[in-house]
Amino acid sequence: MTIEAIKQVAELVKLAGRIDLYEQILDLREEMVTLRSDKLKLSEELAECKRVQDISDRLVKRGNFYYKRLDDGKEDGPLCVTCWDAENKAIHVLEKVTTDYMGRKTNVLVCDWCARNRIQK
Ligand SMILES: [Zn+2]
Repeated sequence: MTIEAIKQVAELVKLAGRIDLYEQILDLREEMVTLRSDKLKLSEELAECKRVQDISDRLVKRGNFYYKRLDDGKEDGPLCVTCWDAENKAIHVLEKVTTDYMGRKTNVLVCDWCARNRIQK
């Protein structure tokens, strides 16, 4: 039964003068709205749990990074260990060049999301 149909039944009961039933129907309608909202929230949480589990099952840790096994046998990465372990975010680290105070350039792998994985390459 849809929420609109419940509302129509409630109006008919009200017209019949059964205010006690009318109020019970309104309470049931409110509960139905809450249950639907809870169901949607749980469905979203379940989908997120499945997404995280799927990625977790595919992750391989090498050195200070994760690599995700893909269906074709290749790997996606390197991914930031901190971002995955703390927030379940599969964030790629990027190779950047830094210059120290002496003007020497160094290639580093950096996670722009958390900026914690400054690993010298
Ligand atoms: Zn990170």
